[in-house]
Amino acid sequence: MIFKTKKLERSVVFLNETRDGIVSYCKINHPDEMILILKGHSKKGKMFVEGLVIPPFNETGPTFAGFPSNQLPFDSDYIGMVHSHPVGTAEPSLEDLNNFFGLVSIIVKAPYEDDDMLAWDSSGNSIPILAE
Ligand SMILES: [Zn+2]
Repeated sequence: MIFKTKKLERSVVFLNETRDGIVSYCKINHPDEMILILKGHSKKGKMFVEGLVIPPFNETGPTFAGFPSNQLPFDSDYIGMVHSHPVGTAEPSLEDLNNFFGLVSIIVKAPYEDDDMLAWDSSGNSIPILAE
């Protein structure tokens, strides 16, 4: 007899035009990377992005984007982060996975069109992004 454990279907949903906000911020910062914290909530595996926060003391350049997470005021509404890859793919680098923050990491690659945005979990598995 085979017992199947039901896997939680995870997905990301953008609310309040946060998706447009991310894309605009990517374009403004190009050719540097950009980084933003995702605010929202998660329910039964669905992660709702409701707002964006610019992390304090963030540092970005053409190939890196980061922030000292110890400088971050505690907020239980943080569900993850998003950063851009002005060059290359929207797949997480080893460094991205080592600096994982929250439940989901979204990466947007240039030229920051609809297909250029991918979501990942801390193990580097992709999470589907659903239309609202
Ligand atoms: Zn990266």
